[in-house]
Amino acid sequence: VAKMDNIVYIDQSKKKYNKSQFIRYFEAKVMRTIRKYNMLDKNDKIVLAISGGKDSVTMAYILNKIISKRGKQLDAILIDEGIQGYRNTTIEDAKKFCKEEGINLTIISTKKEFNFGLDDALKKLDMNPCTICGTMRRYLLNKYARKIKATQIATGHNLDDEAQTILMNQFKGNLQLSSKLGPVTGVKDHKKFIKRIKPLYFVTEKEVTIYTTLKGFQVKYTECPNSRNTFRSEVRNQINTIENKFPGTKNGIINSFIDILPRIREKESSKIVTCNTCQEPSARPICSMCELLEKYNKK
Ligand code: SF4
Repeated sequence: VAKMDNIVYIDQSKKKYNKSQFIRYFEAKVMRTIRKYNMLDKNDKIVLAISGGKDSVTMAYILNKIISKRGKQLDAILIDEGIQGYRNTTIEDAKKFCKEEGINLTIISTKKEFNFGLDDALKKLDMNPCTICGTMRRYLLNKYARKIKATQIATGHNLDDEAQTILMNQFKGNLQLSSKLGPVTGVKDHKKFIKRIKPLYFVTEKEVTIYTTLKGFQVKYTECPNSRNTFRSEVRNQINTIENKFPGTKNGIINSFIDILPRIREKESSKIVTCNTCQEPSARPICSMCELLEKYNKK
């Protein structure tokens, strides 16, 4: 092996990468995912779900490279969930990034939509912050993506995020939730439900961090204050500990999951209906967002 300076990454097979090799390796991995799952069909209109964090910025950068070559402009939606001291800083990063890249950014605030943000909700409701946050975000993303006639929503989920969610669902014994995972989700038939794609599905959190640093993206690496001491953070620490001792663990979780996903979907498939209250797509007669609104307004 020729001696190489400035090693930035060593992969599982002990192969070493310098800066430009790593960038090529990373982008090729993402491109393979996009091609394999046919994520960017020419007839699709993609909207990016952006937060201003490293994952969504990386995803946005790579998709924008492809889409701008087709002579099209990308749209991005950012949901401001109202998390003081955190979301307001990532919003500034997202604005700057989208401006530089020529991406059309729309910011939707839950305060304007529902009259409350996550911080307000947590003062009233004894609920898991991430459940409230995710419910609001998924609901608004789907609604606003549809408004701009998007056919796919691209999110920045990476391999670590997905491996954690798979194990969390497993520990909770909730396979129904796992049936909604995978590189492409929301393929169910409901005319108001927009498909989700995850171009970073096979790259790890560490790889995204290295890529973001090497590319010099102006993002902050701070974590949401609500992410501490959660079930997810516990599972993340455990997986990282096992991965350090037994490299390849995360890939193992993902690959075996993808193998059995068709069977999980077959077994757990549930019909998507229309919410009786707001007419948005829902797994139940009343959607989680309307349930949350009711709880909040009752208190
Ligand atoms: S950690 Fe939880 S509360 Fe914070 S942004 Fe993520 S989902 Fe929302």
